[in-house]
Amino acid sequence: MTSVRVAHAGADYEVVIGELAEALPSLRSIAGERRLPLISDGRVLALHGEKLAAIAVPDPILVPEGEAAKNWVTLQHIVEQLARLQVKRGTPILLLGGGSVGDVGGLAASLFKRGCPAVHIPTTLLAQVDSAIGGKTAIDAAGQKNLVGAFHHPLLVFADPALLETLDDRQLRSGYAEVVKYGLIDDPAFFAWCEANWAGVIDCDPAARLAAVEHCIRAKARIVASDPDDSTGHRVLLNLGHTFGHAIEALAGEAVVHGEAVAVGLCLAFQFSANLGLSPAEDFQRVRDHLATAGLPVSLRDVGLRGRTADLVELMGQDKKAGATGPALVLVRGIGQAFLKRGVDPGLLARFLGGAD
Ligand code: NAD
Repeated sequence: MTSVRVAHAGADYEVVIGELAEALPSLRSIAGERRLPLISDGRVLALHGEKLAAIAVPDPILVPEGEAAKNWVTLQHIVEQLARLQVKRGTPILLLGGGSVGDVGGLAASLFKRGCPAVHIPTTLLAQVDSAIGGKTAIDAAGQKNLVGAFHHPLLVFADPALLETLDDRQLRSGYAEVVKYGLIDDPAFFAWCEANWAGVIDCDPAARLAAVEHCIRAKARIVASDPDDSTGHRVLLNLGHTFGHAIEALAGEAVVHGEAVAVGLCLAFQFSANLGLSPAEDFQRVRDHLATAGLPVSLRDVGLRGRTADLVELMGQDKKAGATGPALVLVRGIGQAFLKRGVDPGLLARFLGGAD
């Protein structure tokens, strides 16, 4: 087992990478005499719930699968179930699932009795490399992605790459978009590694998958620790591709999953940067070629949103980073050179999106 420590003001926890069975003793020591509440979705519970049977309550709290869990109704359901189980303040809550379970379950944990610790056991590639670390929790509301949320840093994270063996191909590819993102932010050597090893990561070469998971966890831990509350402009770089991506997700609904929207968003961020003369056009082409080779959508046309310019610009203007002068976008000076550009002219953005394929 490998352990990556995430330590910064307000949090100090380990992300343990290895077999879940080997992590059970530390979970038992956290639980003590108690059985811990468990939040999951039906599919994940059926596939992997048994692994936690010895420490979890016998009746887990179930939420809908995927993005459909990230709403007020599910949040209320979780809170009511925690109350029904008579969960005491301070009882750790187990979150077994992908980013959707982690986001809504983590938010519920942050609110219940003003805060119960959350133990994340991420079961998707995306959640292992990204969402389980860093303490951001959220639900969607008023038609906007992640509109309501809180920072609630985990007590512990257990990432077992073997849990990914039951994940379907589409979800693996979706998570792979977030893997690539780390190379594009500030690690060009890792992007080159991805170009050489992507098939192993997606097709379950255990060594390639473990290497990717571990590398990304270290990257996320490093970036989060440098700016835990997202205030200095460094952590925001993790949003590369996401301002476009969130608008795409909000418009496309269930037709697109998170990592697919991010993949298109990464391409748009590189293309916009190239159009503005900030970044070489060859880098845009290289990123787009790689994501397309890995089986991800790379254009608005691919996600059925070609021509939805006005809607996209409006949604991007509602993004949490947007200021009075327009959206703030993570743009690039090349592969591995992301930066935050504030006050992007909405007219310029509209002309770009209107011309993007
Ligand atoms: P998900 O949680 O939406 O799950 C997708 C599907 O995969 C579901 O049907 C689920 O049942 C299934 N699944 C999960 N694990 C499985 C397994 N091991 N085997 C078989 N099926 C499995 O998917 P996701 O991509 O992990 O999460 C996406 C969400 O994460 C988005 O809402 C996104 O906004 C959020 N996110 C949050 C952060 C953060 O920092 N909090 C970062 C990135 C993304």
